[in-house]
Amino acid sequence: MARPLIANNDLPKILDLQDGPAPGKECTYCNKCLINDLENPLGCYELSRYEGANFDEKYANMITSVMSVFYPATSELIQSNGAAPPVPSEAAPQEAGSGAESN
Ligand code: SF4
Repeated sequence: MARPLIANNDLPKILDLQDGPAPGKECTYCNKCLINDLENPLGCYELSRYEGANFDEKYANMITSVMSVFYPATSELIQSNGAAPPVPSEAAPQEAGSGAESN
């Protein structure tokens, strides 16, 4: 399930609307995502899956798709709803025995 989700990072929305990715947009299982994962953002790096008349257009669309998981940025979300980000201790109360107690 991981690579199809990498190939279509909006997969939950796609599956909500139809039976799966459009023909030609499925994961090819080429494993380029795994190779790139060492130094690049997690995403689909198979150029054949992207629209474009030439390499440069396909590459630009690929990079746009890979970087799309970073937008909107958390700071933009905070500005849009005016809420401050949750403080970790407020977001996830510690349970007894978590090691945070003092003697
Ligand atoms: S890089 Fe290849 S294996 Fe990885 S998600 Fe894209 S098509 Fe699938």
